[in-house]
Amino acid sequence: MIQTLQKLVELQGLDTEILALGQRMSAIPDTLRKEQGQYENAVRELHKAECARAAAEERGRQVKIDIATDAAQLKQLKDKQGQIRKNLEFQALTVEISNAEEHAVKHTTALEQLGVTLKELDERIVAKKEEVNIQKAALLAQAEEAKKAITELNVRLRRHRAIRREVEKTINQDALALYSRLLKTRAPYVVVPVVDGICTGCNIQLPVNVLSDIMKSDRLVTCETCARVLYLTEHLGK
Ligand SMILES: [Zn+2]
Repeated sequence: MIQTLQKLVELQGLDTEILALGQRMSAIPDTLRKEQGQYENAVRELHKAECARAAAEERGRQVKIDIATDAAQLKQLKDKQGQIRKNLEFQALTVEISNAEEHAVKHTTALEQLGVTLKELDERIVAKKEEVNIQKAALLAQAEEAKKAITELNVRLRRHRAIRREVEKTINQDALALYSRLLKTRAPYVVVPVVDGICTGCNIQLPVNVLSDIMKSDRLVTCETCARVLYLTEHLGK
């Protein structure tokens, strides 16, 4: 029976590793998704800056048209004023000219401000482009790494599963059936050592008769509380 226990513990060791390898394998897409998210975020930020620049440029074009209109209107008003002799009309035109000049100043200032904005946006676009390139390179590197990791994990998983099949063959059917059944609900530890009379699977003190059954080791003994298979480390020499 000690040999069976040894084999079950060996099987459990393999299953634990197979489980860990499987977990590492399934964590890979998450890492990639995170990297992908960062790249997409950088692309979005760049797009936002480019849109803002296009909008500022369009505003600039509009303001330039306004400035041209201002100049034409001002010229027209001044020409008109030059031909007027009546004082009242002359004064009214002076007010209109002053208003038009005010408009012109406002539009020129707006254009200057847009120039500053455009310069800032250009700098932002350069920075965002750089960020996109960095994230892209990181994503590609991560994908390459993931590919390598998956290949390596697959090799290890195949090797572990092959060893597991061999170990399985050496265990009697009843013990294997019990182990497999327990594995479904108690994974990863279904064969546990007894330490100071306590089942290390559930940390409950084992009754004396159970302990003496384990000592006899003529059959597999399970914990009455958690149903795990129990063994004494001294029996297994570890
Ligand atoms: Zn237990």
